[in-house]
Amino acid sequence: MPIQFQVLGAPGRDNALLAEVHTGDAVHRLLFDCGEGCVSELPISVVHQIESVFFSHFHIDHIAGFDAFFRHNFGRPDAPVRIFGPLGTCDVMAHRFRGFTWNLVADAPGEFQVTEVAPPRMITQTFYTKEGFAVAHPGPETPFRGWVWEEADFRVEAHLLDHGMPCLAYLVREAPRWNFHLPAVAELGLRPGPWMRAVRGEERADENLTIDGKQYALAELRSRLMRQTPGESIAYLTDFRLDNAAEERLVAWLAGCDTLVCENNFRNADRQLAENSFHMISADVARLARRVNPRRLVLFHLSDRYTANEWREQREEVRTVFPRTEFPVAWKL
Ligand SMILES: [Zn+2]
Ligand SMILES: [Zn+2]
Repeated sequence: MPIQFQVLGAPGRDNALLAEVHTGDAVHRLLFDCGEGCVSELPISVVHQIESVFFSHFHIDHIAGFDAFFRHNFGRPDAPVRIFGPLGTCDVMAHRFRGFTWNLVADAPGEFQVTEVAPPRMITQTFYTKEGFAVAHPGPETPFRGWVWEEADFRVEAHLLDHGMPCLAYLVREAPRWNFHLPAVAELGLRPGPWMRAVRGEERADENLTIDGKQYALAELRSRLMRQTPGESIAYLTDFRLDNAAEERLVAWLAGCDTLVCENNFRNADRQLAENSFHMISADVARLARRVNPRRLVLFHLSDRYTANEWREQREEVRTVFPRTEFPVAWKL
């Protein structure tokens, strides 16, 4: 499983999503939102390894747990902490960083790169622990082309939604993978072996490759023996109003998405409450899921106005339209 994930927090309480992208060489840990108590559920060693935090928006239920993350990472020696969010993120984070006294950190490591998406551009400011986070060092503005972070093996795309203010949905999308098509390998009379590393491009090789005493052109071997498969993907969607325009844009953007982690704040009966607070009801979530057609839909961000039985009914409201709907396994609902 190249992408593993864990919804943090309990039903009816603050939540967050931890996604782990396994590339073969490394594990990239990405945190989406940071509700109260969410980070405390993780081993400290894992908290230290979270590379980036992606905020949807800054209602208190999505950031109340940030201090726990910050406390474990403010002096991180080996890698900067990256933080992403919608318009206003630099300002919110600057205040957050400065909400503590920093008189003993002059020699401390620690670098926070904060990026806000303000289409058509992204703005980054860098803060240093040794400066007590007092200075927002402006970085270059970059055009926003649909993603906020990119590595060789995956990227994190962002999509602007309406929550009465800008709110970001995220999509972690692995790059396509190249795999050996074993029937084609057998057809050439070859046995799997170390030569595959050269064909995969994992080690330097000449234009020609000798396997079992026979010479092959490397380019031809690649085109004959390797097939491309799409990478995995996981989307994080929370706190927005699904009008027709947003639905069309989301369906296009999320095409091919494997796992949809989506809020289910309100039951169908509470349409008015949902509208007032720029949220969805079960029917909206279900309709979106049916059109996107992921391998699975994971519901989270439930309202504490409901009982556990009502949450189960709420899940059924979605399941009748999109059967592959579940709550996070740990919730045991
Ligand atoms: Zn909100
Ligand atoms: Zn919320």
